[in-house]
Amino acid sequence: MKPSVLVVGGGVMGAASTYWLTQMGRSVVLLDRCDIPNIGGSSGDHLRVFQLTHGKDAFYTDLAAKSIPLWLGLNDEAGEKLLHQNGMIELALKEGGFEDQSYQVLKEMNFRAERMGKPEVRRHHPMLNSRSFQFAVFHHDGGMIWGMRTVSALVHLAQRKGAKVRPLTEVTAVLQDKDGIRGVRDSHGKLWQAENYLFTAGPWTGQLLKRYKLPLKVTKQEQLYVMPPSNRGRYRPEHFPVFAVRGAGIYGFPIHIHGYMKLGTYVVGPPGFADSVSSTKTPPQFEKKCRSFLQKYIPDLGGFSETEGKVCCSATTPDGDFIVDRLPDAPNGFVAAGFSTTGMKFAPLIGKTMAELIVGGRSEINLHRFRLHRFKR
Ligand SMILES: Cc1cc2nc3c(=O)[nH]c(=O)nc-3n(C[C@H](O)[C@H](O)[C@H](O)COP(=O)(O)OP(=O)(O)OC[C@H]3O[C@@H](n4cnc5c(N)ncnc54)[C@H](O)[C@@H]3O)c2cc1C
Repeated sequence: MKPSVLVVGGGVMGAASTYWLTQMGRSVVLLDRCDIPNIGGSSGDHLRVFQLTHGKDAFYTDLAAKSIPLWLGLNDEAGEKLLHQNGMIELALKEGGFEDQSYQVLKEMNFRAERMGKPEVRRHHPMLNSRSFQFAVFHHDGGMIWGMRTVSALVHLAQRKGAKVRPLTEVTAVLQDKDGIRGVRDSHGKLWQAENYLFTAGPWTGQLLKRYKLPLKVTKQEQLYVMPPSNRGRYRPEHFPVFAVRGAGIYGFPIHIHGYMKLGTYVVGPPGFADSVSSTKTPPQFEKKCRSFLQKYIPDLGGFSETEGKVCCSATTPDGDFIVDRLPDAPNGFVAAGFSTTGMKFAPLIGKTMAELIVGGRSEINLHRFRLHRFKR
């Protein structure tokens, strides 16, 4: 018998959708061309930021807030802290910018957030150089997400409910006629069929669904792991929050793995896909940028010696909003893609939404900003 849903792409979005579909009693087959988790995919790193701050765009703050109970439920079910809410501090370089706008939205929505002057920041986090910023916004619900561990946990839980997971299975063709999708073919010529098809192939979704000409821009995003030269205890998640200086284009995490801290960038990277080689090399220019960032904002850490690099690719739409929709001429085809460098925090909610769409034809959250037809306008 055909499964109810075939999911193509086992990153965090495919994994979360598979998990929710099995929760709703559906039979699911999940295919990925690589291992799951795929270290070269968008979800393929240890950590991602969880934050409620999205400037004045309250829509995304609301989605992030709706994701929290789903994350906490997942933490319970998986028996591990996949979302660790150790708080997030954002250092502002000017008044009235992203941080102030975010703070305003957080207050209006009754979240626990503080706008901290320099003396207050010095008191709580003396390692931050208060000469380098104007003020800070701290919100308690922010924190870090264990990325690849989340993918593994979701897949594992879905398997327990009967999902069939097939890594190293690359879909090379989508077979479609006027009534919808008839099946997909893998690189060995095998035909896979289901009642419904969900495409969550991350940055590769455009290649897979060529006929829809999805406007996805794929870029390589650099990340760096650095080993603090001293005082490591004070940078552990119990003492140090996730931090960001949007005006300087950098964010970072407390020490989390083998004594390393991770830094990432808000700057859009060069176009292209990360390959398995480049994905583990330390990018020298980025290392230089991170060193001067730390020298300025957390001088204690500027003298790091040991580093490791990582490049993950990301896919972004022209308006920055995601794609979460049914395919226009295929009633049994669905797509979730274009999650740029902000999507991980919404993964449980997106997975639930895809499952609702496939099972019941409608979703609890409003999808108006995620519809495909917006690109035609
Ligand atoms: C550097 C970086 C930093 C980020 N930071 C944050 C952050 O701090 N906070 C946050 O919330 N979000 C962040 N994000 C965004 C978040 O990580 C992504 O939005 C999310 O991981 C996207 O998941 P996905 O499942 O759509 O894609 P992916 O994880 O890329 O999964 C797609 C999967 O599809 C598979 N696939 C591709 N083609 C095929 C095929 N033909 N057949 C079968 N399988 C196929 C791939 O192997 C892959 O495993 C960041 C992203 C990047 C790149």
